[in-house]
Amino acid sequence: MTEPAPLKLFNSLTRQLEPFRPVHEGEARVYSCGPTVYNYPHIGNMRAYVFADVLGRTLSYKGYKLTHVINITDVGHLTDDADAGEDKLEKAARSTAQSIWDISRHYTEAYWADIRALNIRQPAQWSIATEYVPQMIAFAKEIAARHCYELASGLYFDVTSVADYGRLARTVADEGEGRIDPVEGKRHPADFAIWRKTPPGETRQMEWDSPWGRGAPGWHLECSVMSGALLGFPFDIHTGGIDHREIHHPNEIAQNQAHCCAGGLDTAANSGANLWMHNNFLVERSGKMSKSSGEFLRLQLLIDRGYHPLAYRLMCLQAHYRSELEFSWEGLGAALTRLKRLVIGVQALKTRHAELVSASAPPSEAELPEEKWTLKRVQGDMDVRLVPVYERFDAAISDDLNTPLTLTALEEVVAMKKVDPAQKLAAISAIDAVLGLDLLNLTRADLRIRPRSATIIEPEIEATLARRKDARAARDFAASDALRDELAARGVEVMDGDPLGWEWTLG
Ligand code: AMP
Ligand code: ZN
Repeated sequence: MTEPAPLKLFNSLTRQLEPFRPVHEGEARVYSCGPTVYNYPHIGNMRAYVFADVLGRTLSYKGYKLTHVINITDVGHLTDDADAGEDKLEKAARSTAQSIWDISRHYTEAYWADIRALNIRQPAQWSIATEYVPQMIAFAKEIAARHCYELASGLYFDVTSVADYGRLARTVADEGEGRIDPVEGKRHPADFAIWRKTPPGETRQMEWDSPWGRGAPGWHLECSVMSGALLGFPFDIHTGGIDHREIHHPNEIAQNQAHCCAGGLDTAANSGANLWMHNNFLVERSGKMSKSSGEFLRLQLLIDRGYHPLAYRLMCLQAHYRSELEFSWEGLGAALTRLKRLVIGVQALKTRHAELVSASAPPSEAELPEEKWTLKRVQGDMDVRLVPVYERFDAAISDDLNTPLTLTALEEVVAMKKVDPAQKLAAISAIDAVLGLDLLNLTRADLRIRPRSATIIEPEIEATLARRKDARAARDFAASDALRDELAARGVEVMDGDPLGWEWTLG
């Protein structure tokens, strides 16, 4: 058995692959920018959390004690990532005549439901922005004298007051000089609000007193404050979608430098985190990802159409997180088929194992402690035939989370002949502890999700199919065809001879 591969991750700050070296021996501290809870998340947003989850699971698998924080932005995020527009939550509250607190609670719950459906592990902490406002004010007070200036509209961060501003985005400080800026009096177009005063004559549902007047914190300030408070600067990894590489994270970095580390960004730790990682976008050609487009691509829409949410997770894993991924229903259908094959393969192994050892079923992932899944422990007494495949899995995940290759290794394990099913199940369980497809627990029945439009129920389908089977046995093909047509009229496609043994599907 070779040594486990060293974990290498792509650092957006240096645009290079770097070995993971924890700040605190044996630990990994990760902060992920969370959702702005003014609407349902779309499946593109959820790609960011599938990525962060795979990263966290990989760090656990490598033996690090993981502390993962994801924040909930319930104040401060404007309709434009820079200083233009209005607060997304205030706007949603006004247009629906609801309390902002009700809105944020509703969409936070909806986001958490998607987190669960995608088998994303609970982070150590969900940090809610509005619960950290006093700390945000304290942070801003501390850096204000050296790094900020006040305008009628709020307190602004002077980006020329820190070294290497914009390094993450690869923009220089005077870029954007000519752009039309909505804020009058800013010294530099890239300067940004860290505290926004409520304009005279206006009322906000969410506002707080501060040394700069009544108002609300800037979005970038939240993440600096919560990440520093919960993980300590510098922590190991900060994640987000690739759009955050342009404005939000450079601004967080500037604040972090002002707060704790005056030096430039040749020393990554001065940015507040050693590694900044960004997932690329999920894109969709017809604009269905946009939340303003009426029916947009929510996870629930996929489920309503009969796709298991983990098929979407698998679809994400089929692409490298740094590649753009194009969504299509055909692609999702192919991912579902791939998931079905895996589930059927694992179920067959479980049955075979139960036959061989009439005693108990193999343990499910939930019964196995997280720390079990380090490479060394799994390797312990592994069948030699499994070892090279397992090592390929380890090499792939260690190579900047190459999940497409890990899926191939997983499928090789499932298909491998002449290896004890218990051994295979142990290897599958170890791989799936990183991929999170819940393969040891999912059943064929779980994957059969009823499209919302369907009017027929499963027992009816099964009963009709049983009658059709009898008709065929009696060589009454006219009756058999009539039953098939009857099912088709109600949206059930009968799948004779399906290679996966799937007898019917609801379309
Ligand atoms: P938001 O709720 O807009 O702050 O976004 C939540 C997360 O989703 C952030 O990390 C974004 O960068 C990320 N994100 C937004 N759109 C997409 C997309 N189409 N594909 C992948 N990630 C996205
Ligand atoms: Zn953030």
